[in-house]
Amino acid sequence: MLRLNKRRKLVLLGVFAALAVFLFILWRSAIEKNRQIPVGPFRIAGNLYYVGTTNVTSFLLTGPEGHVLIDGCYPETAPMIIESISKLGFNITDVKVLLNSHAHPDHAGGLAALQEASGAELWVSKADADIIEAGGHGDPTFGPLKFVQFFGLGTFPAARVDHRLEDGEKVRIGPIELTAHLTAGHTPGCTSWSFPVHDGDRELLAVSIGSLTLMPFVSLVEPETYPGIRNDYERSFRTLRNLPADIFLASHTDWFNMQRKLRERADAKDPVEPFIDRDGYLNFIDRAEETFRKELEDQQGTVKPGSQLHD
Ligand SMILES: [Zn+2]
Repeated sequence: MLRLNKRRKLVLLGVFAALAVFLFILWRSAIEKNRQIPVGPFRIAGNLYYVGTTNVTSFLLTGPEGHVLIDGCYPETAPMIIESISKLGFNITDVKVLLNSHAHPDHAGGLAALQEASGAELWVSKADADIIEAGGHGDPTFGPLKFVQFFGLGTFPAARVDHRLEDGEKVRIGPIELTAHLTAGHTPGCTSWSFPVHDGDRELLAVSIGSLTLMPFVSLVEPETYPGIRNDYERSFRTLRNLPADIFLASHTDWFNMQRKLRERADAKDPVEPFIDRDGYLNFIDRAEETFRKELEDQQGTVKPGSQLHD
């Protein structure tokens, strides 16, 4: 009788485990499908185009001597990006440089396929380059969640990095010029991009924020998730605040309210105007910093008056 009960328990446990795995896979594929629905593609302003999905972004900057593409989204998204580029009348083989916001599968996952299709060089920040070349392995920001990588989560096809970028380095292709701003913390080499966009007779500075999000289980106090992560976040907030952004972009569409801006565009006299959003840009940085300060306070236990939160 006892043996039967044990067996029943084991069977039940097995059924629950199988059900949990099944539900997890369903949940994950639902999220990823949602993130792979194309929007547009459309012109944001001048030579800047949107070729990403409803959630994760990919931006195309076009020029007479070749184009630049920022981010490859998920591995499965790459063919959609290529199609979006051709719908706009451009060719993937004219993309000369691929750039990345950070070495996570939803932004770096499609880079290997895009590199293969375009023949472009991939330029990545020094601190994220090894992670990209290892297909997501070796990323310290996964912390205790590292084990999920054994199940294929958080990994992606490895891409070849052709150039390792320094903070502040410029990327130039003909008249296109982008500046790499190291805004580390979310990953050790998380990068935000700024670049002028020529729209008619005006020049607008576009800034695409890599990420300011805290990873689950991140430690901002000793032992830090990686040495210097807290100072990296502090520096990232300062770096981004100092950029005179006109056009606010980011690696996820909801961060800069892309859908709302697209709706507003329908009634706008100037189609670029909804995307000129310095207030939204600064608000986003403020909210991210608030979350960071709150987490830091929690992790430090108490906030002592005069404690040096800003060092
Ligand atoms: Zn990320």
